[in-house]
Amino acid sequence: MNEPIEALLAEGRTFAPSSAFAARALITDAEVYADADADWEGFWARQALALDWFDEWHTVLEWNLPDAKWFVGGKLNVSYNCLDRHVNAGHGGQVAFHWEGEPGDERVLTYRALLDEVSRIANALTALGVRKGDRVAIYMGMVPELPAAMLACARIGAAHSVIFGGFTANSLVDRINDARAVAVITADGAWRRGSIVHLKDIVDEALGATPTVRSTLVLRRTGHEIAMTEGRDHWWHELVAAQSPHCPPEPMDAEDLLFILYTSGTTGKPKGIMHTTGGYLTQVAFTHKHVFDLHPETDVYWCTADCGWVTGHSYIVYGPLANRATSVIYEGTPDFPDKDRMWRTVEKYGVTIYYTAPTAIRTHMKWGDEFPERCDLSSLRLLGSVGEPINPEAWVWYWNTIGRATCPIVDTWWQTETGAIMISPLPGATVCKPGSATFPLPGIGADIIDDDGRSVAVPGGGYLALTRPWPSMLRGIWGDPERYHQTYWARFGDKYFAGDGAKRDAEGYFWLLGRVDDIMLVSGHNISTTEVESALVDHPAVAEAAVVGKADPTTGQAIAAFVILRAGNDPSDVLVGELRDHVGRLIGPIAKPRSILFTEDLPKTRSGKIMRRLLQNVAEDAELGDTTTLADASVVAGIKARYLAQPNDD
Ligand code: ATP
Ligand code: MG
Repeated sequence: MNEPIEALLAEGRTFAPSSAFAARALITDAEVYADADADWEGFWARQALALDWFDEWHTVLEWNLPDAKWFVGGKLNVSYNCLDRHVNAGHGGQVAFHWEGEPGDERVLTYRALLDEVSRIANALTALGVRKGDRVAIYMGMVPELPAAMLACARIGAAHSVIFGGFTANSLVDRINDARAVAVITADGAWRRGSIVHLKDIVDEALGATPTVRSTLVLRRTGHEIAMTEGRDHWWHELVAAQSPHCPPEPMDAEDLLFILYTSGTTGKPKGIMHTTGGYLTQVAFTHKHVFDLHPETDVYWCTADCGWVTGHSYIVYGPLANRATSVIYEGTPDFPDKDRMWRTVEKYGVTIYYTAPTAIRTHMKWGDEFPERCDLSSLRLLGSVGEPINPEAWVWYWNTIGRATCPIVDTWWQTETGAIMISPLPGATVCKPGSATFPLPGIGADIIDDDGRSVAVPGGGYLALTRPWPSMLRGIWGDPERYHQTYWARFGDKYFAGDGAKRDAEGYFWLLGRVDDIMLVSGHNISTTEVESALVDHPAVAEAAVVGKADPTTGQAIAAFVILRAGNDPSDVLVGELRDHVGRLIGPIAKPRSILFTEDLPKTRSGKIMRRLLQNVAEDAELGDTTTLADASVVAGIKARYLAQPNDD
């Protein structure tokens, strides 16, 4: 049934939505772009009307660069929009979350049940002295109480700061102190690949150095023995269970702080990104509905991210619940108890929309097709990708092996800072090209500019910039307005600098090229890491690759590659030669990696992004920079030892 890979990857090959998909799609007409461009503030105001407001705004946008206020004067509550209004409209019995624990336990939460639980948690927080305007840190595994805790904060007007459950005590201390959080919501532990992550022990260690925290709320999940500090620590099953399931939602100003979230730290010290209420919810709801073509009556939606990242905030919690989606949440790792866990789960719940990251897709490619092939994936109708550029080979694998050549793929470009998806196909209207995020969404202004901030002619490449304010834009970096200005607005004045390189092809499609800091300069030529990595992964033996520019006295930089092979392939010098030639053929001899090191693993952030700057430190035998956001520090040490032991092929 499936076409050969070469045909799918052929130059100029495009993928239009099938007539079956388009027949049901919410948007099939590209006119929506022109409509939005004609009056983009009016366009966003119309989207905001999809929410329930206690008081309507008087001004759509106040823009004093770099400070934006959207829907000024409007009042609303995010948890009310995500829960109460659906229950009030008679949908209390609809499933909000199908939750799947790693050990195999499961729970179903209807909108009614979730509203009751959120209200109890909100009352418990109030009982602990948490007030509107306070910050609350949340440090949990992927249990349904995590989204419920986020919504409870939103209900009483406290801002949450979710800290990924894989971080160490030090990272917790930094983030709690930076936000001056008054309470921590956590659990005894979390399940991860069959073992317990001792969350509460880590919190206990951190709380010695966090003077602002007065209390903790502790969920029992793993059930192992933990220490509880009298007066400070409170069991969830005692305090929350004793509360009333009624808690009036606090009317919040559209510009009140909803949350702080620290970026994943690929480029350096994480930044505390601030998001507010009305504009954020407007854009996450709009994008979730239209990019994923959500039909709440029939779809089963699954975003595999962790709530510790912005993808979890916007596309597990706020977007889907605002749109009354039925979602799946999975607690654990994709290889427990076997490498088919994700596909078994798709089959079990009849998942129709699946949203994941390129790093996960390439991991599944590495494991091999046998795992998805064991499972019935016929319920799927739409696939999505986020977090890194998706190389065409991975796109085509996703299309064929997971989508069975029937599901549109939405490659969604956005950032913690943008709050919501910015560049992406509209699946019923956009003709896709593997590896391109296609076009800015309706209402969004994006451009590719040169060093002087001038728009680069099409086709051409340069810096990706956003040219207009957007409703879910960050409102700053918590406690550091100067860094906010310097990082995003100082370079090009009136345009937001995203930090990513991109090009547009002759038809105006956007192709993301990775971070501009990662772009290599070899003998006077700019070469993007993404393009060389894509060329490597294009070879049938390669599952994943990372390349960096290493300082070189003659060429300026030389390309060092780190390559993970697909199951069934062995490292050899012959393969090194083949891969270098392959890149030479696809891009040009200048892009051939100087060295190729085969490895089992790559250094990644805890959100799964490759940390190229650490590989560059390895290649240049330099001191490793900030490693606090690294998922597994032993990976980089192992690579370094093997890299330095290589014969020098200069
Ligand atoms: P930090 O800013 O602390 O270094 P980070 O940028 O990795 O961390 P995120 O906000 O989670 O933290 O990631 C946003 C970045 O991820 C984008 O700037 C871009 O580089 C990359 N990205 C996300 N989605 C895509 C995509 N679909 N295509 C290409 N790149 C993407
Ligand atoms: Mg970033």
